[in-house]
Amino acid sequence: MVETHIIDGKMIAKDFRSLVAQHVRKLGSTPRLAVILIGEHPASLIYVQNKQKAAREVGIDVDVYQLSPTVTEKSVLDLIAELNVKKEVNGILLQLPVPPHLDSSRLIEAIDPVKDVDGLHPENVGKMVTGRPAMIPCTPLGCIYLLRHVLGNLEGKHAVVVGRSALVGRPLAQLLLRENCTVTQAHSKTVHLAEVCRQGDILVSAVGKPGLIKRDFIKEGATVIDVGINRLEDGKIVGDVLFLDVMGQAAHVTPVPGGVGPMTIAMLLFNVVKAADQSLSQATDLIPF
Ligand code: NAD
Repeated sequence: MVETHIIDGKMIAKDFRSLVAQHVRKLGSTPRLAVILIGEHPASLIYVQNKQKAAREVGIDVDVYQLSPTVTEKSVLDLIAELNVKKEVNGILLQLPVPPHLDSSRLIEAIDPVKDVDGLHPENVGKMVTGRPAMIPCTPLGCIYLLRHVLGNLEGKHAVVVGRSALVGRPLAQLLLRENCTVTQAHSKTVHLAEVCRQGDILVSAVGKPGLIKRDFIKEGATVIDVGINRLEDGKIVGDVLFLDVMGQAAHVTPVPGGVGPMTIAMLLFNVVKAADQSLSQATDLIPF
């Protein structure tokens, strides 16, 4: 049995947001984020409100462009083109998912890579993979920040990432490689998942299946990062990890809510400031990557 430390993502994100706010004050101009929200997906509405509130608190202005769920792709592309050339707009965020009649890849590719604060444009993905400065997706960046905060240097650790989405799993595996971890990427077709997961000094689950990760998936003393957000029938929000089950087995674990979620928003604010910094040709030193 080990003593399990619960990683306080809320507190770590709050401290990081104050660093971002200090940086905003140094910029001498107000960074501006444009959020494109298509339709009225209830979870998306809440996410956008949370992002807006957090942005305001650090001194970032947010314009929300709420479009009808039946908007044409051409109209969205026209709006993106308009925002791309607006000097005062530093960051553009397309809230995902978009309605099925729209091609999210085409929309993301239309965003100016310099303003792509979600880090999903192929140019940013390519730069990240080849180790060049890039916009990095917010959730993976938040996971790395948490891991560094808890463990310090990650070099040589075996990290197992469950999930291979373009939004979380894939970029996170790349970032862990950049941290000199040995990385295993597991996914829906992985056989003997528990055995694979048990190899991880670091185990990250980004799947979206409540209770997927149980005690026997965890190497004793591992650090477990739970990215999953799942709403149960009774309305309760849980992660992918059976939280109480891993107590006494993991050395560190993130709770859901209050773990990775607040870090994702904090990293979005960081990316907006980074975009604003680029346009002002100043260095950003809050995160050295
Ligand atoms: P996704 O559906 O795009 O990808 C899920 C991944 O899980 C896939 O790569 C799939 O291969 C893998 N998978 C599915 N079933 C599996 C199984 N039984 N065993 C192993 N792997 C399996 O989802 P996503 O966008 O990557 O999000 C994953 C989860 O993270 C969701 O719950 C989402 O809500 C949450 N999320 C949280 C944040 C945050 O800020 N905390 C941000 C983004 C996503």
